[in-house]
Amino acid sequence: NQLNNLNFSGGPGALPESVLLKVQQSILEVPEVGLSVLGISHRSDWFAAVVAELEGNIRKLLGLPDNYHVLFLQGGATQQFSMIPMTLLRGKTTPADYLHTGYWSGKALAEAEREGPVRVIWSGESGGFKDLPGDDELAYSPDAPYLHYISNETVEGLQFHRVLGRDDVPRVCDMSSDFLSQPCTAERYSLIYAHAQKNIGPAGVTVVLVRDELLEDAPTDLPGFLDYRSHIKAHSIFNTPPVFAIYVVLLITRWLLDEIGGLTRMAEINRRKADLLYSQLDNSDGFYRGRAKTKDRSLMNVTFNLADTDTEKRFLAEAQAAGFSGLAGHRSTGGVRASLYNGLTLAAAEQLVGFMEDFRRKQT
Ligand code: PMP
Repeated sequence: NQLNNLNFSGGPGALPESVLLKVQQSILEVPEVGLSVLGISHRSDWFAAVVAELEGNIRKLLGLPDNYHVLFLQGGATQQFSMIPMTLLRGKTTPADYLHTGYWSGKALAEAEREGPVRVIWSGESGGFKDLPGDDELAYSPDAPYLHYISNETVEGLQFHRVLGRDDVPRVCDMSSDFLSQPCTAERYSLIYAHAQKNIGPAGVTVVLVRDELLEDAPTDLPGFLDYRSHIKAHSIFNTPPVFAIYVVLLITRWLLDEIGGLTRMAEINRRKADLLYSQLDNSDGFYRGRAKTKDRSLMNVTFNLADTDTEKRFLAEAQAAGFSGLAGHRSTGGVRASLYNGLTLAAAEQLVGFMEDFRRKQT
């Protein structure tokens, strides 16, 4: 299964082999049910138990307090870009605070502007999104309905290594590309959202953790499907949910708890992978040029350039031929991006670093 093991894609990304083997079995037959997971009713007792166990596992992994709801929604992180301002910004005159730190936060902010007033409190656009703001560059509004930011900008490879904002303004955070890759003080946020297809499963399901009181003043005329309260009431079975995707996320949380041993351990492994890659960049005498400023580098997405686009093309072609998949940078930035999500093994990161070392020696 070498191709999967060397899957450095920005997402959907690598999933652990032990989970894939269980998924393979479940396509034929979920042992305790005797049916394929693709054909089990979302109204079955089995699926209700899947949702309940998954919710419990996420609570356990994050130490999530009882005043949070755990939801499994559709529409990807993109739907959250709209659902959040529809819920929290419609009809408001005071702007929400948004950070513009890269490609995806730009998308989030454009959707929020359709719903209500937005204030961009920091933008990295003129600097080409190569770094993130320090605390002294951020003047938060004390009366904003909420603060929105992205913990890890997947395209640029930038990650906040701290919690932003003020304790008296609800924090809303897109954790799509670093959710469950490390411990997180979830109770400091009012709403966290993350699609599954990076660290915790396939595309099709988005996890939302929302503090109960955040929804108290939400408009009452939202479409049912776009109202968090419908999904809370229906325990994430408001309509037919993506049973398969949710089941795979359950298997990943079991893997995190039972095989990895929790998020602290997961974070250690993820850090070792990132350290391997970044020391390869840092010790290459400028052959590999890291895109992000050192202090803001992402542990999930290592982005870099080579001397020119020809050398980059050759690097990507040779890497592909050697079995490494998904290394081309996002279409908006070009360059190279090695994504090191939970499912990518340390051995795979070591192999990539070995390849990079050989490639560099051959060129210099
Ligand atoms: N937010 C982030 C941080 C992302 O990386 C992405 C996609 N890679 C999105 C949002 C959009 O997600 P989706 O395709 O699930 O709508």
